[in-house]
Amino acid sequence: MCGVIGLWTRREAGTRLVEGLLALQHRGQDSAGVLTSDGTFHLKKGNGTVAHVFNPRNLARLTGNCGIGQVRYPTIGPGSVEDAQPFAINHPFGIAMVHNGNVTNYSDLRRELECKDFRQLTSFSDVEPILNVFAEELDRTDLSAFGPASVFEAVEGVFRRVKGAYSVVALIHKRGLLAFRDPHGLRPLVFARAGNEFAFASESVAFDLLGFRRFSDVKAGEAVFVDSRGVVHREQLRPGKPSPCIFEYVYFARPDSVIDGIGVYDARLRLGERLAFEVARQGIKPDVIVPVPDTARPAASSLASALGIEIREGLIKNRYIARTFIMHGQQRRALSVRQKLNPVRSQIEGRNVLLVDDSIVRGTTSGEIVQLVREAGARKVFLAVTAPPLRFPCVYGIDMMTRGEFVAKNRTVEQIRKVVGADALVYQTYQGLVEAVGANRSTTDRSFCTACFAGCYPTGVSRRYLAQMERERQRWLE
Ligand code: SF4
Repeated sequence: MCGVIGLWTRREAGTRLVEGLLALQHRGQDSAGVLTSDGTFHLKKGNGTVAHVFNPRNLARLTGNCGIGQVRYPTIGPGSVEDAQPFAINHPFGIAMVHNGNVTNYSDLRRELECKDFRQLTSFSDVEPILNVFAEELDRTDLSAFGPASVFEAVEGVFRRVKGAYSVVALIHKRGLLAFRDPHGLRPLVFARAGNEFAFASESVAFDLLGFRRFSDVKAGEAVFVDSRGVVHREQLRPGKPSPCIFEYVYFARPDSVIDGIGVYDARLRLGERLAFEVARQGIKPDVIVPVPDTARPAASSLASALGIEIREGLIKNRYIARTFIMHGQQRRALSVRQKLNPVRSQIEGRNVLLVDDSIVRGTTSGEIVQLVREAGARKVFLAVTAPPLRFPCVYGIDMMTRGEFVAKNRTVEQIRKVVGADALVYQTYQGLVEAVGANRSTTDRSFCTACFAGCYPTGVSRRYLAQMERERQRWLE
């Protein structure tokens, strides 16, 4: 999971790009980077959060009225500084690129580019092959007649050759700002315009801060090119069936974002209402509802309203500890739960507590939280989860790459309950998830990627690739 941004404005873009990245910081804390252009490319990138990487001195060097940026969260590997984005290339033009996603034919592409096409990649970042394929495809067009048609032809070449999930923003030197979303639209990408200023971002929340009020989604298989005169060209290059990631609504995206026409906060409220139905159906009668902060808070509030039970902040979050899920390694995760969350004893002691959380991945975090609430004096601790059991790896850029990591792998709900140590465990149903998130769509238009719940991958994924992912991930975790 990463966050990308692009700006084409009449003012200096550097500081605004960094502000936009701050709004996307939840999508990745491993590295941050910005490239601007004033006729020359200016690049600053490094490991760490946005606040860590940028300072007044390096910001002053990021001159120019257009640029792109990225915050990264690596799915495999330790995430070296060499993999930080943006990446740039000089031929056929200066082209800089950022992306969010995961390329599933990365190894084949890398081999093809390095052996057949004599290109040299300098990192293990997925965006490098995308950038090189795009440059190669652009080079095949008639460059003397460069225009939107040549750009779209090159993106069509990327769609043909690059498999997997990728939402891309690219700056083409002195020619314009480009964005495209893979034919399944797996990762989000939004386009905004205010007068003669233009922006792209992973989530609409970045636009609120930058003063863009009107926005639309870049569609699955669509490319949008803002040329140097500020004319917008949009082309639906592939009509493919969109399958945006449903987990964005459950966990990743900020609640104040709107993705593919669905408000994330509203979707979470509906998830809570559907979950209340399951809690009631199982005859669970808590005294108090306690959200596991922060993601589950909207769902917990609607669940509490639906059941007519009071909701209390029984767990307080230390805001200065990084997101548990984003910290790598089992031991670091377990330790960070207690560093991050502390119970409010007065709201818990002697009561039957229903904890509401967004998902259970490995079970480590959930087990620690249940134990924490028990130690604070709860009579009983129930756990309700706004998503169904996660059972299959995500190959589209989310840190859930091996089946072995899932507590739900080969376990029944009762067995998972025992692992996390709760008195009762209630999961959202699969149908509840899809209906809650897609409630404002027709029943035939509720197509999401739900592969991590159901095992059906929109792009098709070979067993060989899954096994390879599993091996690499395992090596990294050890
Ligand atoms: S597998 Fe899950 S996390 Fe990955 S893109 Fe699909 S829904 Fe999202």
